[in-house]
Amino acid sequence: MRFENKVCIVTGAASGIGLATANRMASEGGRVAIVDLKAEAAEAAAQAIGEAAISLVADVGDAGAIQDGIHAVLEKWGRIDVLVNNAAMMTFQLLEELTVEQWDHVLAVNLRSVFAFCRGVAPHIQGGAIVNVSSVHAHETTANVIPYASSKGGMEAFCRAMSQEYPIEKLRINCVAPGAINTPMLWNNPNVKSGKEKITGKVGEPEDVAAAICFLASDEAKFINGTTLVVDGGRLDV
Ligand code: NAD
Repeated sequence: MRFENKVCIVTGAASGIGLATANRMASEGGRVAIVDLKAEAAEAAAQAIGEAAISLVADVGDAGAIQDGIHAVLEKWGRIDVLVNNAAMMTFQLLEELTVEQWDHVLAVNLRSVFAFCRGVAPHIQGGAIVNVSSVHAHETTANVIPYASSKGGMEAFCRAMSQEYPIEKLRINCVAPGAINTPMLWNNPNVKSGKEKITGKVGEPEDVAAAICFLASDEAKFINGTTLVVDGGRLDV
């Protein structure tokens, strides 16, 4: 029961990796705030968990909505121990087709949200952890996903820099970088559909990433700070 008495915020938790993470944290004693754009799916996820969960409808690209969400969690449970920055979006344009508005939108949802959430929760965390969900696209990527790849690379640099600002006893921050994982985001990706982004090896399940997130968010990882754990099955074509 690694999350007994802990209050956890998981963004993008109405689907995929976030949902698997929220479920795993709740099954290990945590109270979980499910933050998502999709009201119905977020509420269904919270209902399925029961009393230990609440749903909060928010666009993480909106810094004001993030503040309101943090407020609501503190009102409900009076503390915050764990934050998982998981919500994200992708767009698919080559550099010369990319508009400033598209760039700003992806960076607001995928990276500014990390800044706003971390800044909002850090004063409240005492002996807890933050986990950011990055991507192998931060390290090795394809054409037409420049804002997404930049946001994930930025997220990992943000994590290393933030880890230098707090005593490890107060809070730790780490990233996981999933490879291909069986969620709507993977199968809706036009690069995957067209075969442009080759899926090598096995596709992982959301629970495989949730296991890594829960490890980093728990006290088992108490000496791990400022790093990225790649969860891609080794990407072996076997
Ligand atoms: P998913 O589509 O199953 O879930 C994403 C969730 O985020 C959805 O419920 C969606 O409504 C929510 N969301 C999107 N934009 C939001 C916003 N602005 N505000 C609030 N909620 C928002 O996708 P997933 O694969 O579980 O993705 C989770 C994370 O994993 C993302 O950060 C993604 O970049 C990362 N990732 C996924 C893969 C993969 O292959 N699936 C690979 C590498 C990284």
